[in-house]
Amino acid sequence: MPSPSEQLFARALQLIPGGVNSPVRAFRSVGGAPFFTKSAKGATLTTADGRELIDFVCTWGPAIHGHNHPRIKAAIAAALEHGTSFGTPNPYEVEMAELIVDFFPSVEKVRLCSSGTEATMSAIRLARGFTKRDKIIKFAGCYHGHSDSLLIKAGSGALTHGHPDSAGIPASFALETIVLPYNDTAALDAAFAANLGKIACIILEPYIGNVGFIKPDAGYLQYVRKITAQHGALLIFDEVMTGFRLSRGGVQEVEKIVPDLTCLGKIIGGGLPVGAFGGRADIMDHLAPLGPVYQAGTLSGNPLAMAAGIAQLRLLDEVKPYPRLDALGRQVCAAALAAAKAKGLPLQAPQFGSMFSLFFTPTVVRDMPTALTSDAKLFGRFFHACLDGGVYLPPSAYESWFLSTAHEGAAIDRACEVITKSIQSL
Ligand SMILES: *Cc1c(COP(=O)(O)O)cnc(C)c1O
Repeated sequence: MPSPSEQLFARALQLIPGGVNSPVRAFRSVGGAPFFTKSAKGATLTTADGRELIDFVCTWGPAIHGHNHPRIKAAIAAALEHGTSFGTPNPYEVEMAELIVDFFPSVEKVRLCSSGTEATMSAIRLARGFTKRDKIIKFAGCYHGHSDSLLIKAGSGALTHGHPDSAGIPASFALETIVLPYNDTAALDAAFAANLGKIACIILEPYIGNVGFIKPDAGYLQYVRKITAQHGALLIFDEVMTGFRLSRGGVQEVEKIVPDLTCLGKIIGGGLPVGAFGGRADIMDHLAPLGPVYQAGTLSGNPLAMAAGIAQLRLLDEVKPYPRLDALGRQVCAAALAAAKAKGLPLQAPQFGSMFSLFFTPTVVRDMPTALTSDAKLFGRFFHACLDGGVYLPPSAYESWFLSTAHEGAAIDRACEVITKSIQSL
């Protein structure tokens, strides 16, 4: 008799490509079939099969206070009383904009949208419209959602244009996107020298979360800020993942950098679909209806999503979670490193606050090629050993793990035990 998850997956496979609405959920990189979740609370997912799993994905970042937090639920319920969508401006949008500007001092004006993909896509268009230049620089290993200009991978040489990273993207689009290695200042120098006056912007995840978790070398982000300013190119920090998570004001607060534009998402939605991009007022005023750069959204600033996000952000200021989250992150990485050392397995565990990754490799991970030295087969076995023990990790060797305040106490201790045993079993 197939389990409820197996039955659901069989039905999904008939109707939804690959059975999933976002590819990583299909477990292709760890093997096996995905479980379905019927509910989630705190640090725990309950599967359709009735299993309880300690969750290290936190819906890919948004659930920083844990799943289904009562305060966020209550805020959504209260907003629901007034209606689900108005198609006119609503009071929640103004409150949200005020909060974002307060959390991110580099943001003077902000536009709300419905996903991180929309935020980065729109920020790129704005940067091009503002600078009247076409080329953009992105970095290998940074993910900025699935829009055409950003789903580009590196070409053969560091100076050449990129190539589409998906079928369906015209090669001509890729001509406008330069893909460089992260943490490499010489590559930046060369790209600017070869494209004088042509580069509209650099977009990057200041701390990378999407090829696993990677931190920049000391001074690297400061260099990126300096060279963009020198060349009149805009600097876009994609803090969709790191914003509100690594500190109150994101990586830019930690590194004391003022980007021109910032993209946000994930945490600001409180678990509902939200994105935002904002920055210097003189740039943002190029957006329609004030300026010539068009951007719009039927459900942008949706009252339910705003209410959830506002509650989530206010809660951050109440609980001040960052030192606590950092302690949890350190605890998990220390347990994993100790277990790997005892077992004689090479392991790298870059971590900052509540984001980290375990890379099974002897190589220090500082960019995409070094991340890819991680033993993905071994990770797959580790993933399934943890899952059997009741701990759900990101289902890929190249994703960040996320923690919430709800992991404190029994959940984290139990998860560390399972992780230790799973490493012993490899
Ligand atoms: C998740 C993510 C995105 C895309 O956001 P969606 O809401 O999935 O469209 C963009 N940039 C970064 C850094 C992300 O982590």
